[in-house]
Order: sequence, then C-alpha cells, then structure tokens
Amino acid sequence: MNLGMLKSYKVFVPVLFLFVSWCSLYQDMHTAEPELIATPKYDLNVSVPIENNNAIKESIEQNRSTALEPEILTAQIEEEIAVVQDIPLEIKPEIAAQSEVIVPIIRVSSTSEEKDHKNFGFDLIQKGSHDENTLLVVGGIQGDEPGGFMAASLIATQYKITKGSVWVIPNLNFYSIIKRSRGPFGDMNRKFASLKESDPDYEAISKIKSYIEDDEVKLVVNLHDGSGYYRETYVDKDHSPHKWGQCSIVDQANLDCDKYGDLERISTKIVEHVNANLIREEDRYAFNNTKTAQGNEEMAKTLTYFAIKNKKAAFGNEASKNLPTHERAYYHLLALEKYMDIMGIGFEREFELTPLAVKEVIDNNIYLSIEGNSISLPLHDIRSVLRYFPVNKDGHIAYAPSNPLLKIIKDKDTYTIYYGNRRLTHLKADYMDYINAEVNVHFKVDNKDIEVKFGEIISVKNDFLVHDHDEYRVNVIGYSNSSKIETGTSISQEKFMKRFSIDRQGQMYRVEFYKKDKFAGTVLVKFEDV
Ligand SMILES: [Zn+2]
Repeated sequence: MNLGMLKSYKVFVPVLFLFVSWCSLYQDMHTAEPELIATPKYDLNVSVPIENNNAIKESIEQNRSTALEPEILTAQIEEEIAVVQDIPLEIKPEIAAQSEVIVPIIRVSSTSEEKDHKNFGFDLIQKGSHDENTLLVVGGIQGDEPGGFMAASLIATQYKITKGSVWVIPNLNFYSIIKRSRGPFGDMNRKFASLKESDPDYEAISKIKSYIEDDEVKLVVNLHDGSGYYRETYVDKDHSPHKWGQCSIVDQANLDCDKYGDLERISTKIVEHVNANLIREEDRYAFNNTKTAQGNEEMAKTLTYFAIKNKKAAFGNEASKNLPTHERAYYHLLALEKYMDIMGIGFEREFELTPLAVKEVIDNNIYLSIEGNSISLPLHDIRSVLRYFPVNKDGHIAYAPSNPLLKIIKDKDTYTIYYGNRRLTHLKADYMDYINAEVNVHFKVDNKDIEVKFGEIISVKNDFLVHDHDEYRVNVIGYSNSSKIETGTSISQEKFMKRFSIDRQGQMYRVEFYKKDKFAGTVLVKFEDV
C-alpha cells in the first residue's frame, strides 16, 4: 500500500484530531521530560471504542460513495483506543490500522545522541486485557537480527488482541539495533546468569528480568535470526546441528511450573504449524532441545534459561539469516500466532499473513508525528536527505513514532531517522523558534475550499491554493514566484522544484506556516498519481 491510495483528506481529520488531542495532553504532562530514560509502562487495561467512532464511520460512509479504497475503510472502522491505567488522564490510540491514518501509538520521545546509549531504553507495549496468562514476546536482543524485531514490532502495531494479554518488547537492545551490531557491549543474550553493575546493559537486563518474573507472564518467546538452517544431523555446512536458523528451541523437554510446562510438546506444535505454511521446503522448521541444564554453559547465560530457572515456560524462535527480512518476520509471526492459539489468546490483524503482505506492512505506513503533530512525516518513500527542516532552537525534536523501532539520532545539525537497522533519512536542521498553535488554515484544493489542521496531508488532483491568513505567513517549500507572495495563487505540481519534495517520487511538498519568524506548523500536499 502506498500514499497513492490516499484519495481524500477528509478521513484523516477525525483520527488526526484525536491523536493531536492526545499528543498535546501527553506533552502537557511531560513538557519538562527529556529523552525517556525509563520507558513508560503502558498498562492497556481496558479497550473501549473510540469516542467519536460514529463521526469516523459517518465520514467514511460519506466517502464510501466516492473514491476511497475499501482497505482504508475497513482499517478505519476498526480504529479503537485503549485507556491507560497507570498514567492518569492519558488516552492512547492503540492499534495502528493498516491504512494511511496517522496514529502514532508508542511514546513521545526526544532526539538522542549516540553517546546517550545508556538511555536508549526499550519499549514494553502491553496489549489486550490484564490476566494471569500473558504471553511475553521479546525482539531485538541482538541488533543484527531484524526478522525478530520487525515481527515483534508488527505484533505491537498491526495486531489487535481481542482476548487475553500479550506484552511485546520489540527493541530490547535498541542501541545495538541502531548500530546494526550483535552487541556493542558484548552479546546481551549471555548476560542473564550474572552481570556486573558497571555493565552498560545492566539496567536493561534488570528491567527485562523483572518483566519475565512478573506473575502475569506465563510464557516467554525470544525471537532470533540464526545463521543457516538447523538440522538434527549434518547435511552440509549450511544445514547442520551447528546452525541455528529455522528452529524452535527449548532448554529442556519439560518444566515443573504453573502452566505450559510441556515445553517439547508445545514446541513441536509450533514446528508443525510453521511447516504447514512454508515458502519453500528448505525453510522447514525443526525442534531443537539445547539440554541446557546438562552442562550447556553458553545457553545457561541466556534469557530463556533465566525464565526457565524462574519457572516460566520459555522458547527461542529462530528464523534464518539466509532469508530476506520479511520472510524471517513471516516465520516468526506464524510461530507467534500459534503460541497465542495454544494459550487461548484472541487476535485480529488487518493484513493477510503471507510473505508479501508482511513486506508491505513492514515497508509502508510508517510515520513520525513531530512536535505535537506540527508536522507529520510519512517515511516509506522519504528522500535520503531533507534540507531546511524546521527544528526547535533548543536542538531537540519531540516526536511520536508509529512504530517502536523508529528513532531520531542527532549528530550536530543532522537528525537521522532510523527504522530498526534502516537509515531512512537525514534531516538537515533549520533552527527556529516553534510556537504551539492549534489553528485551522484554509486551502482551496481542486476548486473546493477546505479547512485544514497542521500535521495533515492533503490530496491534490490538479492544483491547490493557500488562502491568506491574518496571523500566519505561508511558505510553500520548493515553489517561488516573482511576487514573493505565495498565498492566493493556484499552484500545480509542475510549479514545484522536484528536489524539494518530501518523497522520492516528487509528489509530496511542504506548506509551512509561521507567525512572524516563529514556526507554527506544516501541511503536506500530495499530488495524486497521474
Ligand atoms: Zn539471536
């Protein structure tokens, strides 16, 4: 799916409005808070229908008779919010629908620098309703295993838990993910038996241990991408007992614990389920018992064995590094769905579980909402460098990402947006004062007058015009004319210098609004495919 499917700006308004209200609420409470050192724990206890779901439905129904595509409709009808329990007053949009709706769900962060590595933290995203039968999914313990952490992030963003409870940590070793390194401070998955307090990973390890030990957690799955293909007997150097790819791992056959102690039986069911859905025969999963307690010193230092020692059922799930990322994520999702099934956890997803659909949801629908949605930035086709990007003079960008693997790293006046291992773009800062303004601005789009809020994306067929505003000055980036006045004049795609577009296609441009010399917000115009 791509932005070409965005046919009407109207549908964006209600959802965006909700987000903007939430975001400003959140920021009101957190204005003084710098980069989140301890990532907040979101207790999503109750899921309730979105307050003005009706308004959304109405607007969708109005649009149904027009050109809106059905996938978008479904996604928006499914929209819901969840009430957060332990942070008062905060309402968070849960589920990010698979549509072009901008619903950042994760957190409000501020830019980090690489030297802040101790403060990168990780996210715990709690989904569904609390109960004593929680599945804990862990991704990103080693930063060079994107299949695992992408799959975990999709559980966080693309799955709705309809029954039971799932906790997701998609980015346990976030610094190593950004560094594309197995472990900048050594292998984090060898730090669970003992660790010095001086170790840079100490805080993260202590925190993840406490989540594993939590009474609600009954089953833990740690996601990995291993090399080659595990086989019980030696076939060749890529298919052998020494390889880790494509298997379901247990430390022992059985565990004396509350629930799910028949580890081998459960693992075998996972293997069967994956093998019923293979892309190719070579990818066949196998059951792998590391027999850790019988003197496997390396495995005794891992996350899963820590869980086992604490009487929690735990499994490793391995995809193969020989496969492309989306295929690895596909196998992880197959396994995770089977775990949910075994535990009686209900879920819905907006996409079909096929390798290509997984690729689509990984690549598309990623956004940042910047400075309380003054700017919302679609990232799936973003240029590798965006110049003159308005950044607050204090040097920080506050942002809410649509996916927990998104992070902005600052290096002098360059702000690099990361998505897991991928570097999406470098923003070159144009430092200015920001003002927080929630106003409506007025456009004429294809001869129709419309009212727009900052952070919205308008779809334009032929041309648009920005109406003059008493208080706000307008700068249409990449467009200029001899009069230097950019309002009141109709602008078509040819009038833009393509290199100023947000996207590589040259279809999306920024319209910026200022009050005197202070930056107030951006509206994006997106010319439709011709
Ligand atoms: Zn691994």
